[in-house]
This record gives sequence, C-alpha cells and structure tokens, in this order.
Amino acid sequence: MKDASGRNINYLRISITDLCNLRCMYCMPQNGIEKKHHKEILSLEEIYEVTKIAVDLGVDKVRITGGEPLVRNGIIKFIESIAQLEGIRDLAMTTNGLLLKEYAQELKNAGLDRVNISLDTLKDEKYKEITRGGNLKTVLEGIEAAKKVGLNPIKINTVIIGNFNDDEVEDFVGLTLKENIEVRFIELMPIGQASTWAKNKFISNGTIKDRISELMPIYDGDKHSPAKYYKLPDGVGKIGFINPISSHFCKYCNRIRLTADGRLKPCLHSNQEIDIKTALRHNIGDLRKLLEEAILSKPSQHTLNDLDHEPIVRDMYRIGG
Ligand code: SAM
Repeated sequence: MKDASGRNINYLRISITDLCNLRCMYCMPQNGIEKKHHKEILSLEEIYEVTKIAVDLGVDKVRITGGEPLVRNGIIKFIESIAQLEGIRDLAMTTNGLLLKEYAQELKNAGLDRVNISLDTLKDEKYKEITRGGNLKTVLEGIEAAKKVGLNPIKINTVIIGNFNDDEVEDFVGLTLKENIEVRFIELMPIGQASTWAKNKFISNGTIKDRISELMPIYDGDKHSPAKYYKLPDGVGKIGFINPISSHFCKYCNRIRLTADGRLKPCLHSNQEIDIKTALRHNIGDLRKLLEEAILSKPSQHTLNDLDHEPIVRDMYRIGG
C-alpha cells in the first residue's frame, strides 16, 4: 500500500518484547526494566493477526526485533507461523546473538531467512562494559552457528561511540576481507539513554568513512536499503553506512513498526503512535483501517535534526531497532 507521499510501504518491523538479556549503556537503563503484566504486551497470536492484515495490504518483508526477540517464549512457533504467510518474501531478525548458538538451526528450520547481529566491539572487556555484562565469545559462537545453518546474509550492526570503540573501525572493516558478511556502521541516535549523552559521543559516518581510503562504492540493488555500501578492493564482504542523523533516507523509507505493547509507529523518529491493541482486544474499529491509517499518516520526513525536535519518548528497546 502507498502512503500519502507515494512510498510503497511493504516492510513491517515487529518488536515482540521489551525485555532483553543485555543492558547496553545507550539503550537500556542500568537496572533493566520492570517486567510488564502479560496483558500489556501483545500475545504472539495477536501479533500474527496484525501481520496477516499487513501482508494483505502489501507487506512482503518482516523483521522480528525487540528488546531481544530470542528471549520471548514461543519464538520458534511464531517464526514458523509468519514464514508460512503467503506473500512474505523476506523474514529477518535483529538480535544481540547471545542465544543464536542455541536457536540458529531451529530458526532456520522454522523459515527465518537471515539475521542482523548487533555487535559494537570485538574486545571482551569492552563488550562486557558496553552491554553491562555480556559475553563476546557467546555472540561470536552465535554468529558462527548462524553462518553454519545458512541464515544468509549475516549482517553485523555496529554503533560507533566516541572515545569508546572509534578505535575499532578498521578491525570491523577488516572482518570483510575474509568473510562474506556485511558490517554496517549505524550512527548513534539521541534516543532514550543516549538522548542526554555528550556531543563527542556522536560520530558521523562521514568521519568514519573518511578514515578508510580504499573503500569502493557498490550498489546492492535495493534503493530502500538505508545503508550505502562499499567494499575493500580485496574484500569478500560488504561495508555499509546507515546515517539516520547526518543524511536521512526518509524518501525511500518503506517501513512501519509494531511495538510489543500494541502500537503502530509510522516513523521511528516521531512520537506518533496508533493504538491497535485496544481494537484487537475489544473489537473496536477495524484493524485493517488502523493499519491503513498508520500508513497514510506516515510523515514524509523525520525532523530529528531540528533544534526544536521534541524528544523521542520511547527508548529503542521499546521500539525495536
Ligand atoms: N536486542 C536486539 C539487538 O541487540 O539487536 C534488538 C533490539 S536493539 C534495540 C536493536 C538495535 O538498536 C541494536 O543494534 C542497537 O545497537 C540499536 N540501538 C539502540 N539504541 C540506539 C541508539 N540510541 N542509537 C543507535 N542505535 C541504537
């Protein structure tokens, strides 16, 4: 279905839980979050209902995210049900990778096509620090497991933070020399925990890119991809830059989001939300109409760079990155 700006909205990103098994400093409060009563969170059956209608409206690409999607009970059956919806062409998941070793094969069998793994450092101690306790080795084993079962392509999403991991850019880029993976640098956004962080923590992708002189631009054939891709002359993998701050990609945005507590979010960078949970629970209105409304009201462009931009109320773990 087309939105009011003529963009074809065919990509649904679903956050299936706010809970996470990590406490990344820029994403989650140190002591975690209070577990919501299960009634406040959509059941997986309800999420399936919404997805079914979205697919009927033209969605053919679905990403499952969170919180950490792999901590939600019933995840494998849920993936299986979504994969079986006629019309789904691409079913992906964003995960921190901690549980991938355990679940990779089952996820593949259930019909998941691919995974994006969030990884901000290749150093044990730093990983422990930024995630407040995570184990890097477990994530690396998870990545290996995903590769082995064929969850392809593997994309590593890395947020570069000033004075923390900006000395690791070359190490991440170097991963693409031997491995057919995609390393994507995502600019830190002033959302949630990071909204009060000092300016020097935010490094534009332009600055990072300029540090690697041998990058050769490539086009991956998907104009809706938020990433601009490059490769090293002898590289097998790709390097992507996702610049939500320094050069937004709203013109080609084809996404709509569903949060775990049952809100449709037409734009990541806007506080606008449409309650779909009440309609699901009380048969109020028409779910299809609410989805259409969300698509039609999608802002033409985000205003995150405006000085008077209202702060984003939801933290990323409650939106799903
Ligand atoms: N737990 C999963 C994971 O780690 O990939 C999925 C949810 S997590 C919220 C999704 C992504 O959001 C992660 O890659 C994380 O780095 C990113 N993220 C969270 N807060 C962010 C921020 N303020 N700026 C940029 N990316 C952020």
